[in-house]
Amino acid sequence: MALTRPQKIEIEQQLRRLGRARNLDAAMRDTICRALEFLHDEDYGHCLECGADISFERLREQPTALRCARCQNLAARNSARPQPDLTA
Ligand SMILES: [Zn+2]
Repeated sequence: MALTRPQKIEIEQQLRRLGRARNLDAAMRDTICRALEFLHDEDYGHCLECGADISFERLREQPTALRCARCQNLAARNSARPQPDLTA
C-alpha cells in the first residue's frame, strides 16, 4: 500500500527536522535532500531491493530508509567488514 498524503507530510516534517541538526555531516545532509525529493516519487516507500512496501512506522523512524528491514539487514551484513575481536 502506498503512503497516504498525511503520512508523506509527516515523513517530510521528520526529514526537515533531521536536516536541521547542527552536527549533520555532508553525506547525511545529501541523503536527506535526496529523500525529500524522492518522497514525492511514486517509488518512495518501496524497497529498493525487493519492491516490498516499507512500513510507515519504519519510515517515520528512519525516513531515509530505501530498503525494507529485511533487505537492510542483508545489505548491512554483506557490507560489514570483519570486526577486530576486542576480547582477544
Ligand atoms: Zn526488501
